[in-house]
Amino acid sequence: MAVGVLALQGSFNEHVAALRKIGVKGVEVRKPEQLESLSALIIPGGESTTMAKLAEYHNLFPALRDFVKMGKPVWGTCAGLIFLADKAVGVKSGGQELLGGLDCTVHRNFFGSQVYSFEADVLVPELAAKEGGPETFRGVFIRSPAILEAGPDVEILADLSVPSDKSTKSVAQNPEEKSETLEKVIIAVKQGNLLGTVFHPELTADTRWHSYFLKMVGDANMQNCSSSEGVPDG
Ligand code: GLN
Repeated sequence: MAVGVLALQGSFNEHVAALRKIGVKGVEVRKPEQLESLSALIIPGGESTTMAKLAEYHNLFPALRDFVKMGKPVWGTCAGLIFLADKAVGVKSGGQELLGGLDCTVHRNFFGSQVYSFEADVLVPELAAKEGGPETFRGVFIRSPAILEAGPDVEILADLSVPSDKSTKSVAQNPEEKSETLEKVIIAVKQGNLLGTVFHPELTADTRWHSYFLKMVGDANMQNCSSSEGVPDG
């Protein structure tokens, strides 16, 4: 099985390496026609405005939007998640073009600038249930967005408690900690065949998110096969 990795900028090499570790070929995607033969796509972290500009330059928007509309599995990490969201706030004046599809509103730089990047163990029961291993995943948050609102069809896979004043130097290391000064933000979601994480699993040695996405791809392929077989006679 081959999975596409949008390779315009950002951490696409790291995604390809993570896929290789679990025995899957990652195909670097830079041209619209490459998407035709692929059944799934990962959009890496990086910088979402640059990614959008490069996608425009390479005329990728129509093919990418078709890809999402066809229900093919797409996973956005960090900037990739921003790109995949229907709405982004905290963007530069004039806005930025989004691919859309994921019924979420994201804050593009919720935690602040580069100096407020951090790591935290986040609880992801769904990941442990499907992939085994510990209930927590080491989240790498680099100029990370957060999901502020998610639509009714969006399944929340993980959230994180953060100080309500967003002074990110003191972001809760224990996601379960309860305090009046903390608020929860959504950090991982699934909506049908779309997956979004605000953090960077490709920058860790833990490949469970990649395996999890691959299972989504397998399920989508099975569904496609059974629906194209049609209803048997008699
Ligand atoms: N906040 C960044 C953006 O707007 C994303 C950062 C990242 O992907 N590490 O694109």
